[in-house]
Amino acid sequence: MKRLWLLLLVCVLLLSACSGETPCQTELFAMDTYMTIRVWDGEEALLSECAQLIYALEAQLSVTRSDSELSALNAQGQAELSSGTLSLLAQAICYSEKTEGAFDPTVYPLVESWGFPSGQAKIPDDETLAELLSSVGTAHIHCSDGEVLLDEGTRLDFGAIAKGYAAQCVAEYLAEQGVRAAMINLGGNVQTLGEKPDGTAWLVGIADPEEPSQAVATLRFTGSMALVTSGSYQRYLELDGQRYHHILDPKTGKPADSGLLSVTVLAQDGVLADAYSTALFVMGLEDGVAFWRQEQSFEAVFITQGGSIFATQGASALLSGCDFTEICA
Ligand code: ADP
Ligand code: MG
Repeated sequence: MKRLWLLLLVCVLLLSACSGETPCQTELFAMDTYMTIRVWDGEEALLSECAQLIYALEAQLSVTRSDSELSALNAQGQAELSSGTLSLLAQAICYSEKTEGAFDPTVYPLVESWGFPSGQAKIPDDETLAELLSSVGTAHIHCSDGEVLLDEGTRLDFGAIAKGYAAQCVAEYLAEQGVRAAMINLGGNVQTLGEKPDGTAWLVGIADPEEPSQAVATLRFTGSMALVTSGSYQRYLELDGQRYHHILDPKTGKPADSGLLSVTVLAQDGVLADAYSTALFVMGLEDGVAFWRQEQSFEAVFITQGGSIFATQGASALLSGCDFTEICA
């Protein structure tokens, strides 16, 4: 009898569904980030499937795990890639071309020269940087029929788009499973799906770069959206009292010094939002605004080193809780 009850309990747990106004939630640590996934409807088991999906993407795309598909390509200089990795690489090359190299998936030798993967800060000298820069740029990637060849010294890093891609994959998977409302929060990468059952808007905070555990402003909107923030406060190394942050300018090989503390990009697609948040951080306010006017595929909120906030027209309509300057089209 006891066994029967236990069996029934297990069945109920397995079939338990998320419904109503309180979401089901799972938390995980992957891609060096604390992540939360919330689902308002659908089977609770979907949450662990989403977590498995993220772990699998990490195993495929990580540049620091020696057994990943990306590491095999970097080590051998050539590889036949899976269709998922190949499609992400094609998107990376496209966004790199659109941003004129401000986002560049070949920055890994530079990232390594500053000691980011090991966490041991180093300051590469100008000669070292000049040499490494000669193998940076998407012209060093050659693709044909699923086979990718890298020029000598060139190595790929998907660190600036992997979380955006993972959030996009999870949102697509949940939508395929019939989920109508979900929020995927992968650190600075947030993706919403659909509308909450109680009809209230999604609220996503923009971290205060000086006090990242607090929000400096809130974005309020309904429907599906990707919101990605790149900021100098997110990851950095310290050496002799000096901070070196993790977003590099692929033209100089040094941490980007464009006068910004953070950029938040809002777009329909998670990979685009992630690639562009990194690129806009490198470009700075003026070039970033020019890029926004030209592209029209995203909205953005910029926080400058002086603490001023600038929001593009579409983002202005969603922003509250702070003083800001609206940038018109
Ligand atoms: P986070 O990883 O904190 O979300 P980003 O999305 O801006 O921040 O990505 C930064 C990561 O991407 C770095 O840790 C590095 O691995 C890589 N990277 C640094 N600079 C660039 C760049 N200009 N273009 C592409 N990737 C970059
Ligand atoms: Mg990014």
